[in-house]
Amino acid sequence: MGTAPGLLLATGQVLPVSSVHRLARTSTLVRLVMDAEGQVLDMGRKVRLATPAQRRAIYARYATCWVDGCPLPATRCQIDHADNWSTGGLTDLQLLGPACQFHNRDRYQHPDRYTRHKTGKDRWAFTYHPARTRRLRV
Ligand SMILES: [Zn+2]
Repeated sequence: MGTAPGLLLATGQVLPVSSVHRLARTSTLVRLVMDAEGQVLDMGRKVRLATPAQRRAIYARYATCWVDGCPLPATRCQIDHADNWSTGGLTDLQLLGPACQFHNRDRYQHPDRYTRHKTGKDRWAFTYHPARTRRLRV
């Protein structure tokens, strides 16, 4: 197997493989997935907020809030994580979508009231299930 040198993107410096291995052991590595124009689409766990390129891709994929029946245009929504970021969700394009402020907060506070289903190859939607109303006994 050949031992091609590594390229340090930050500086343009070519490094010997031994240095690449040392950096891999001692640095925080970030997995980045980019589109054809070099825009970052997957950020993994490194950051919580969507990048501008991710936002553009989400607006192209979704017309409205990703909760069924919610008419708020995607461009007026917050970017939501399909899997809650605070419990390990990834900031990856295929797991991001638009949620209006109400649904973003409500889904975070009451995850049991929502079920997720696929609506396309990389698209999701959530169905809201109202909480059972408690009957007052008199
Ligand atoms: Zn909504």
